Amino acid sequence: MTMDKSSPGFPKVRLRRLRKNLAIRQLLQETRISVKDFIYPIFVKEGISAAEESKAMTGVRKFPLSGLIGEVQDCYDLGIRAFVIFGIPSSKDESGSSSFSRHGIVQQSIEFLRSAFGDRIVVISDVCLCQYTLSGHCGILKGSRVDNDQSLNLLAKIALSHANSGSDMVAPSAMMDGQVMAIREALDNSGFTDTIIMGYSAKHASSLYSPFREISDSSPSLGDRKTYQMSFLNHREALREVMLDIQEGADIIMVKPAVPYLDLIRRVREMTNLPLCAFSVSGDYAMIKAASTKDLIDEKQAVHEMLSSIKRAGADIIITYHAKLISQVLNSE
Ligand SMILES: [Zn+2]
Repeated sequence: MTMDKSSPGFPKVRLRRLRKNLAIRQLLQETRISVKDFIYPIFVKEGISAAEESKAMTGVRKFPLSGLIGEVQDCYDLGIRAFVIFGIPSSKDESGSSSFSRHGIVQQSIEFLRSAFGDRIVVISDVCLCQYTLSGHCGILKGSRVDNDQSLNLLAKIALSHANSGSDMVAPSAMMDGQVMAIREALDNSGFTDTIIMGYSAKHASSLYSPFREISDSSPSLGDRKTYQMSFLNHREALREVMLDIQEGADIIMVKPAVPYLDLIRRVREMTNLPLCAFSVSGDYAMIKAASTKDLIDEKQAVHEMLSSIKRAGADIIITYHAKLISQVLNSE
């Protein structure tokens, strides 16, 4: 925007007029965040009898199936209505077969939540192989390479098993080419035409995922994920990823991580009218937690500022490990 030289400036114009007191500031607030904007990630682990505290992420716990309903009820009481489920299976194999088992940890979790909460919550399920394969990769290996098209069959099977269990929304995160199309076809062919697909459209190979991998035990045993996850240096390619997900039938698109990628969130927002999700990842959580533990920053204020910046950049919904904390902040306003 260029300044019109004929328009008045100081001293007629005083922007501090608009900041005079809290009521005026709140009236003129441009970005509003609500508890309803957030999706809370929940980890459910097979083979444990009590909740386990994460070493890498203080305050984040892994739950046994028996603890799932209580945790979701606590979140519900704070106003949180959407949950993304990550499963930690007790066994892994080469093809990640426990990922699509009818009695898998995620499938059972979805069934539990559906029967306890009905339609009062949104159940979202992460669709990937890395927690379930011996290699820790998001697809199936052929030699030392991740085989794209073989992996699509499995990802479609996982999504279908989640839909069968009652998932409202499947969220493919493997970054395989064609994954959204393969899943849409599999869902539609089985009558799940109303199951929503949220694509992890522009998911970057990021150092900020490390705390998550400690929790979910999903580090690749060889190599890295750079042949399928995106480089953090490319923004045009990220827009292509998003366009392809839209063409393949994604209902909601995502940029991940969120905070170091606010420029991309803004560009995607300007490119499409689809609902846009941003994933504030485990590294965001861990950095704020570490700094606040050392009294270097105020945790609640920092979280409020960080999540607001994601919304301001253009995200409609935000996956965050801070969902409970920000709900407490917003509920006390
Ligand atoms: Zn994965």
